Amino acid sequence: MSLLPSLSPAATGADNPYQMTPDEMPERALDTSVAPPAERPKVLLLGGQARSGSTLVDRSLGQVDGFVSCGEIRYLWDRGLRDDERCGCGLPLRGCPFWGRVGHLAFGGWDRIDLDEVLALREEVDQPRALPRLLRMGLTTSPFERKVSRYLSYLERVYPAILEAAEGDVVIDSSMSPLHALIVRRSAVLDVRVAHLVRDSRGVAHSSTKQVVRPEITDREVMMPTYSPPEAAIRWTTTNAVFGSLGRHVPTIRFTYEDFVREPRRELDRITTLMGHPLTASDAAFRDGPVIELGTDHTVAGNPMRFMTGEVPIRADEAWREKMDPRQRMLVTALTYPMLRRYGFEP
Ligand SMILES: [Zn+2]
Repeated sequence: MSLLPSLSPAATGADNPYQMTPDEMPERALDTSVAPPAERPKVLLLGGQARSGSTLVDRSLGQVDGFVSCGEIRYLWDRGLRDDERCGCGLPLRGCPFWGRVGHLAFGGWDRIDLDEVLALREEVDQPRALPRLLRMGLTTSPFERKVSRYLSYLERVYPAILEAAEGDVVIDSSMSPLHALIVRRSAVLDVRVAHLVRDSRGVAHSSTKQVVRPEITDREVMMPTYSPPEAAIRWTTTNAVFGSLGRHVPTIRFTYEDFVREPRRELDRITTLMGHPLTASDAAFRDGPVIELGTDHTVAGNPMRFMTGEVPIRADEAWREKMDPRQRMLVTALTYPMLRRYGFEP
């Protein structure tokens, strides 16, 4: 059975909605009639502040039968299709057969979409300034809402195509971004659920200052973004607050990085159960010990761990406890105190 929506676009011809300007476009490029949940393509969004261990969780989930690890889908358009950065399999994204098949299934080929338009849409709707409007949930037909719908309509074709190409049941999208989640959760054609990942704010703040080379770029040295501890603390609070509020609209579970590295199998079972697929004994990649067996995943973006294969130890990164500057630690603790307590961390 094809999971792709059977209505428009046809990917060819004058009635292809992806060849229209936003003003010419119908209200939604896709049929938004709500299919029964069992028939809707399942998307698991990992949400939380960057540097919380999402790539480890994403890749661990990707070893579960039926779960497809794709990295940070939010970056498919720029880092993947525009910049042709390396897929998790090691090939440039446009040379990766898996993503080639996804593009073919979704649009008749990546060249059939106007990439500049998708990038412009994302720039406009998926950015911090848009947060208040995204939180309001689109009940209007304002130009902004139409742009959100149009951007979402691209994603609504990508996720089912991933499932079809991988013959999977659940797409894991570890974009982590609250903005991206607020857009995707509007979909009536996808079955969207959220696993909200929280790491101790001091660990996030300490990791956020570290310079990490992005290995997907091979012709020059580019670093992952860094943040000062106070900036990371403010981002941590905002991001977690948004994902906390999302739980009122979308099936959501919350788990901590610290619990995950301590008992990965238990936490993975909670997440897969959220998606209707509890872990089985055959999911042998997860032993009770702190090791995971990783295969190759076609991930778009994420931390350097996305290129690892074979046996990988699951170890807690608790370096902040020893190495973080005490004044910065106190500052981050003070800035995030109420939520730290709520999540059960020791201030
Ligand atoms: Zn690949």
